[in-house]
Amino acid sequence: MLNIAKIRNEFPALHQRVHDHDLVYLDNAATTQKPVRVIDALRDVYTHKNSNIHRGVHFLSSQMTEAYEQARTNIRIFLNAEKNHEIIFTSGTTDSINLLASTFGDAFVGSGDEILITGLEHHSNIVPWQMMAQRRHAKLKVLPITLRGELDLEQLDSLLTPKTRLFALSHVSNTLGTINPVKSLIKKAHALGIPVLVDGAQAIQHGPVDVKDLDCDFYVFSGHKTYGPNGIGVLYGKESWLEKLPPYQGGGDMVAKVSFEKTTYAELPLKFEAGTANYPAVIGLMNALDYLSELGWSDIGAHETELKEYASSRLQSIDGLRLYGTAENKICVFSFLIDGVHASDTGLVLDKLGIAVRTGHHCAEPVMDFYGIPGTVRASLSFYNTREEVDRLVEGLGKVKQMFL
Ligand code: PMP
Repeated sequence: MLNIAKIRNEFPALHQRVHDHDLVYLDNAATTQKPVRVIDALRDVYTHKNSNIHRGVHFLSSQMTEAYEQARTNIRIFLNAEKNHEIIFTSGTTDSINLLASTFGDAFVGSGDEILITGLEHHSNIVPWQMMAQRRHAKLKVLPITLRGELDLEQLDSLLTPKTRLFALSHVSNTLGTINPVKSLIKKAHALGIPVLVDGAQAIQHGPVDVKDLDCDFYVFSGHKTYGPNGIGVLYGKESWLEKLPPYQGGGDMVAKVSFEKTTYAELPLKFEAGTANYPAVIGLMNALDYLSELGWSDIGAHETELKEYASSRLQSIDGLRLYGTAENKICVFSFLIDGVHASDTGLVLDKLGIAVRTGHHCAEPVMDFYGIPGTVRASLSFYNTREEVDRLVEGLGKVKQMFL
């Protein structure tokens, strides 16, 4: 079992007073707080190791380059990928998906082709495909969802067609918490020769991801949602696909030889890492993922499941509270509305009580349109949250009802 009190002491940002109350941070799907280990790793880079990578012959530069490439190895192991050069550093999930939409679109999508996404996607797994579809005269198709917020799998067969070039879907929904059955969906798509991109922005911090076992062609996530720094993310791609894609951005580091007449490109992974890398954040991300591995997925999972069950039963006991997203298989994320109270009013009152939740459409407007609502209140929990914090949320919602109803 995790020692939650000890773990909380490793996250300085959790120990604050907000509006005269102890902070209850329940906005982890937007971004997670950082353990001392990650903060110290960043401080150590800037204090002792800072030097641009891949370019210098001097001591600091070689040391920093080695640390950067060590991070790639650790992250490859974390994802159980086959090869280090299948790990590409980007600035985040959004950047990873834009890279793919641009390069995959240029190489493999033509007029009349289709890209399949789902009704659960975050805007960053919708808009880049829409923009690419427009450029390539292709079509965006959408696998719908059910009222519980699960994918409507009965419609999958008719949506995977000979024209489908890629199936891009989230592993876990940021709005409803639904865990999608990605492994079986990948198998289905592969049987038809269709590659699959998995948006793991909300999955990677909640359980082990094994890209070899999933057999996904691409897997993307952000550092800041997984207890790591901002401005860093990962694109995992199978070597066979990454080799076939053209470079994304041009600049330093991604080239082999440049002349005014002709440029040849670097091999993987540098082909996709133009410009000065965010190497301090890469070191921070390695430390965040190593931290999670050391805590252990089974203990993290046990605590998060227990919290989920407790929060679910406490929230459901509140009269007039409507939960959106009641999938059989979900993470510790609760989207809800209190009948007759606007989501942002609920969020503002909770804030005055020191409780941080998110309100609005959570960058998933199509999900809100599906339910015919403008937005929800979303409480998203992490392994560092406690039952007492769930109690504070429930008490806070009681006050909201007193004020508005
Ligand atoms: N996909 C999902 C499922 C997300 O939850 C998010 C962030 N809310 C993103 C993509 C985009 O991540 P980022 O803003 O870190 O690029």
